[in-house]
Amino acid sequence: MRYQRSSALFDEAYQYIPGGVNSPVRAFKSVGGVPVFMKSAKGAYLTDEDNNTYIDYINSWGPAILGHTHPEVLEELKLQAEKGFSFGAPTELETEIAKFIVENVPNIDQIRMVSSGTEACMSAIRLARGYTGRDKIVKFEGCYHGHSDSFLIKAGSGAATFGNPNSPGVTQGTAKDTLLARYNDFEQVEDLFRHNQGEIAAVIIEPVAGNMGCVLPENNFLQKLRKICDENGALLIFDEVMTGFRLAFGGAQELFNVKADLVTYGKVIGGGLPVGAFAGRNEIMDYLAPKGGVYQAGTLSGNPLAMRAGLKTLQLIKNDPAFFDNINKTTETLDFEIGKILNEKGIAHKINRKGSMMSVFFHINRVSNFDEAQEANHALFNNFFHQMLTNGIYLPPSGYETYFISNAIKDKEIDMTLEAVRKFEYS
Ligand code: PMP
Repeated sequence: MRYQRSSALFDEAYQYIPGGVNSPVRAFKSVGGVPVFMKSAKGAYLTDEDNNTYIDYINSWGPAILGHTHPEVLEELKLQAEKGFSFGAPTELETEIAKFIVENVPNIDQIRMVSSGTEACMSAIRLARGYTGRDKIVKFEGCYHGHSDSFLIKAGSGAATFGNPNSPGVTQGTAKDTLLARYNDFEQVEDLFRHNQGEIAAVIIEPVAGNMGCVLPENNFLQKLRKICDENGALLIFDEVMTGFRLAFGGAQELFNVKADLVTYGKVIGGGLPVGAFAGRNEIMDYLAPKGGVYQAGTLSGNPLAMRAGLKTLQLIKNDPAFFDNINKTTETLDFEIGKILNEKGIAHKINRKGSMMSVFFHINRVSNFDEAQEANHALFNNFFHQMLTNGIYLPPSGYETYFISNAIKDKEIDMTLEAVRKFEYS
């Protein structure tokens, strides 16, 4: 049996770990079947516990943008490990990475490191609330900003996949301060500002959404958000946990030429180790402890191993002038060629793509918000996912996720992927 050892490992894990996994979407619950247990990864490939290999389109949900276990990042980690794993004291390295990011990303003066995207977003809204003296935030349906209470309201990603976008355990008191609007629906945002005058601290958005599948901002949506925030004294927060250092080195701020007041990062910034960060202008970041009164802290924040992996990853991206062209071109080729094959098979679909993020929706119409993402044929997606998996292509196990294309995916891997799509049979 192809997944024999994975199956046994999952049974055992199930006894000791809730649902057998440490993050829900890994359980393959919505697509069904046995979650594949991985044992190693190198470049474009993953190897599972049954020695099956896969071309990886998840890439640890984004961090492995260089491909897995890049030799130069590995070397840095080895050298750092010899010096110590964690000090809980300031290091020169933290300034080095902060300086590198501030100098190469538009519109930020200071950056605070944390250990996950959740922490980054949670801290950014606390800071926005502390800075503005207001309580309410606006978020968009289908966007995911981590699992802190304020965001688990019509949330995307695993929360959407498992049908609990409003999580039990989030109090009414917290939920009432999170206002919701449809992605790309500016009129709804205007309504919210009209009915909550002087109360909205911030609007937080995935500038290209990846957690309801890949959904792009349309009709200058981001520019309009910038304007309405300015008019109302609210902060605009770009959650660039997915898009940062991926759509461009300066993320969506650079790509769309829209300035955010606060930006959150994760994934690529840690090069595969647990890192998140949030950043902004001096006048806002100065509100943060120990300088200001808004409290935020972390035992492992700025961890030297994580900083090493992150800094090396960012330097490798920055020093390769063709980096973004390459991953974008790979993604464009996949989009066109997969689309062509699905058309030949007569399968209705819509592929959304920006840079090196893309999603295949089995939908007749365009998908530009969460409602439309939900209307897609998710049963067909599950079928597609499993056939691709059997043919050695590791796609995200949910129609509410994006593919993350790495720089290790080259022509050979594209050909193998297209061959697997050609084999797709649906009834
Ligand atoms: N924001 C976005 C846009 C994300 O995609 C994610 C995770 N996928 C998060 C925040 C939360 O990050 P983490 O899982 O590291 O807590």
